[in-house]
Amino acid sequence: MMSARILIVEDEPAIQELLAFNVTQAGFQASRAEDAEGAWREIRDHVPDLILLDWMLPGISGVALAKQLRADARTKEIPIIMLTARGDERDKISGLESGADDYMTKPFSPRELMARIRAVLRRHVPQMPDETVAAGGLELSPSKHRVSAKGSILELGPTEFRLLHFFMTHAERVYNRTQLLDQVWGTQVFVEERTVDVHIRRLRAALEPAGMDKLIQTVRGSGYRFSAIDQARI
Ligand code: CA
Repeated sequence: MMSARILIVEDEPAIQELLAFNVTQAGFQASRAEDAEGAWREIRDHVPDLILLDWMLPGISGVALAKQLRADARTKEIPIIMLTARGDERDKISGLESGADDYMTKPFSPRELMARIRAVLRRHVPQMPDETVAAGGLELSPSKHRVSAKGSILELGPTEFRLLHFFMTHAERVYNRTQLLDQVWGTQVFVEERTVDVHIRRLRAALEPAGMDKLIQTVRGSGYRFSAIDQARI
């Protein structure tokens, strides 16, 4: 699995640098912004898995940005840890009321911050169950991240893997592109619907060497379906 992307929104260059250093050291990907506008630009490019948000930002404050993020369907689920120089209990409460998941007062220890980041991420990451699934002659193991057909291993990209896992656990049902985006990509991502078609093509191409590409069926005007029933024989 790809490491989580953390967006750091902090206008103080030294603190931003320190946060980025610690986040990267801990194995996460870091992206940065120095104000609310910059944060939205970053989010448009890459939806982060978590946001470290400074309370005192020039222009739109951290609290106001947290409220904006919570009001937007695409960003409302992104966990936020608010960072502040204030230690006032009332500030803490208004920070959490604005939609932050956690709150840390500066100066904080990097170790504690990383522990909080991991705790908040654990609460949000949708888990793919570990059980191996079998359908239509395919076997998919999430824990080994492996798909096989009649004993031979198939090469799948991470998105195709998730897509196939969803299909195999929801066989014989038709899903439209929006439903697939929500189920496989999640509701926090900005992807165009035609992206689904691209990954369906890649998934079929990956299944083709095993003669399994027909498992992914196009249902005209509706979407796609994983079916072990050979449509040509009906
Ligand atoms: Ca600041």
